[in-house]
Amino acid sequence: MIVDVSNKVVVITGSSRGIGSELAKAFAKEKSKVVINYFNSKDKAQKLFREISKCNQDCMLIKADVTNPSDVSKMYHEVVNKYGCVDVLINNAGVCDDNLIQMMPLEQWQKVIDVNLTGTFLCCREFSKIMIKQKSGKIINMASLKGQEGAVGQINYTASKAGIISLTKTLAKELGQYNIAVNAVCPGFIVTDLNRHDKYKIEIAENKSILPINSNLNELMNFIIYISSNLFIGISGRVFNLDSRL
Ligand code: NAP
Repeated sequence: MIVDVSNKVVVITGSSRGIGSELAKAFAKEKSKVVINYFNSKDKAQKLFREISKCNQDCMLIKADVTNPSDVSKMYHEVVNKYGCVDVLINNAGVCDDNLIQMMPLEQWQKVIDVNLTGTFLCCREFSKIMIKQKSGKIINMASLKGQEGAVGQINYTASKAGIISLTKTLAKELGQYNIAVNAVCPGFIVTDLNRHDKYKIEIAENKSILPINSNLNELMNFIIYISSNLFIGISGRVFNLDSRL
């Protein structure tokens, strides 16, 4: 059995840094045509683009704010004009901005809901157009265990991730008739800019685990590549928890 994602057009939102950037490299290594999306981190995104292009791998670099419908639509048309199809959409762009509920202004709530949940909705709405025409496609949404279990001080983040889980299940039902699979992945703890400030959580993760910190990352890459491949068929509307719970 060979997992093959070569020549697949894979759009990864928020791939200038962190997990998204690692995903872009992993898919490029498998000879996929990767669409790198960034919003603020232009330099990092350009560096990644150069790194992937240097290995003669076809890829695109697109600035788009996933919360902005016209940016998302522009990104969609650029991809479709260049490649003519989209095989995989990974809704990875995400932020957190923590506070206890009594101290959380509406703007802080809204910002996280906008990027994580509305951004996922907008990209699904846009990119499913071509997938419906193709009668094929895979959408992979980055959720979080915290969206299932809750987390103190993260009401905006946890609600956004719970929303993504629900969106995934509904969309799987809506798009199943077009042979489009929609699944959500909940990664284990991976140290990135998103949580680097949280020394307490990093310490707990290190103590709990017999594996080195960020060993979850390889498993996450391998799993996402597998569910993007043609080996993974007929499974949709599912939520995959990838933590080791050691
Ligand atoms: P990260 O290192 O902070 O990276 C976040 C990415 O999202 C960046 O590339 C950023 O791009 C992009 N982004 C933010 N706002 C955006 C916007 N409005 N439009 C487009 N892109 C935007 O975070 P990460 O840890 O890699 O997280 C990636 C995903 O995994 C998130 O959805 C997160 O919730 C989820 N997750 C992470 C963990 C973990 O332990 N790290 C666990 C569970 C789930 P720019 O900098 O270019 O704006």
